[in-house]
Amino acid sequence: MAESRVTEPRKRFVELLGQHTRITFNDLKKELVGKKWEPGMNLATLYRIVDTFKEQGLIHEMTIAGERVIFTCQCADGRADDAITISFCENCGAIYDTHTRLSGQLTMSNTYQQTKSCNACVIL
Ligand SMILES: [Zn+2]
Ligand SMILES: [Zn+2]
Repeated sequence: MAESRVTEPRKRFVELLGQHTRITFNDLKKELVGKKWEPGMNLATLYRIVDTFKEQGLIHEMTIAGERVIFTCQCADGRADDAITISFCENCGAIYDTHTRLSGQLTMSNTYQQTKSCNACVIL
């Protein structure tokens, strides 16, 4: 991989993630693809960056209402090969990830769940 060509798009991607608690794939596309800066980013590059970051466990993705929603891993010691549970709060829209170490034969486990409320917005 030619690192110099990859660095700038990755930098922009990381910057954008840093500005949002979460962002949809469509918004990433809008912000990053086809812009004037050099060397520019095309859709294939964006897909590749998202895949790479996901493989490395730096970001997670959940489909919410048909949209690919991407957010930065919130666990300080999260690893890509953990069992990862991603929760989306239907009430306040917060998204959380929790990691537990995988044991035994499992190589991968992702669980997606939606909750009516969460710790940030508890409804009594
Ligand atoms: Zn995580
Ligand atoms: Zn909530």
